[in-house]
Amino acid sequence: MRWRGQRESDNVEDRRGVRLGRPGIALSGGGILLVVALALVTGQDPIQLLSAVSGPSVSVDAGPGGQVGAPSDDLGKFAATVLGSTEDVWARVLPGAGRQYSRPKLVLFTESVQSACGFSSAAVGPFYCPLDSKVYLDLSFFNELERRFGAPGDFAQAYVIAHEVGHHVQNLVGIAAQVDTARRRLSPQDANALSMRMELQADCLAGVWAYHANRDAKLLEPGDVEEGLTAASAIGDDRIQKRAQGYTVPESWTHGSSAMRVRWLRQGLQSGNIRDCDTFAADSP
Ligand SMILES: [Zn+2]
Repeated sequence: MRWRGQRESDNVEDRRGVRLGRPGIALSGGGILLVVALALVTGQDPIQLLSAVSGPSVSVDAGPGGQVGAPSDDLGKFAATVLGSTEDVWARVLPGAGRQYSRPKLVLFTESVQSACGFSSAAVGPFYCPLDSKVYLDLSFFNELERRFGAPGDFAQAYVIAHEVGHHVQNLVGIAAQVDTARRRLSPQDANALSMRMELQADCLAGVWAYHANRDAKLLEPGDVEEGLTAASAIGDDRIQKRAQGYTVPESWTHGSSAMRVRWLRQGLQSGNIRDCDTFAADSP
């Protein structure tokens, strides 16, 4: 990716190194694994489950603040640049869908973090909290992406950030609220299928961002798209489950199979139009 020298966003909140006294019940690493395993079996979002176990936060933004502004280290600068690019693209694209874009904050943290969605360990991976409109990212996830999932490369990392920003876009256009309401009326299995379509849409929106970022700022280099597709494939639920337990349970998928994730990221990348990201209308996602 040709990201160096491009605008860095100021909407980065750097909480790396901030130590947390955790509220609610303290969960050991084993406890967190148990919750994540439970989430896989029950099909619930591990983040929500973890928040439920560790108790609700006391205020809308209970986390200790970090330094706000573009970080000075390389990885922090990279994240701030990708965030800046998503800001530019969505501020231009979203009004086409009748909405104004408001910029989300990107919170960088290490080990654990307190958001309006509760206490979260880095073990749950990057996430978006709709209650405070912030994306939470432990940058060590990029190492994991490379070593554990075999998906190296800066565009693979940018895709992770853009996927979370995609959830913010879903929040702004009201899709997140609609899905939440619909989920309450559905069986756990159907609710899960709906969540999966929402995740696949976030993949597609990440592709839409990349399409425009490339057209406006020539962001992509040869091999970048492949990096992104490799990452989408590597973090498919089927791939992760097979790795963890030797078999895969489609009913418990929360993000979609490798093939689905690749399909929707590619769809966004090729079309650049959010209307082509209607994963809810597709017969089979
Ligand atoms: Zn997601």
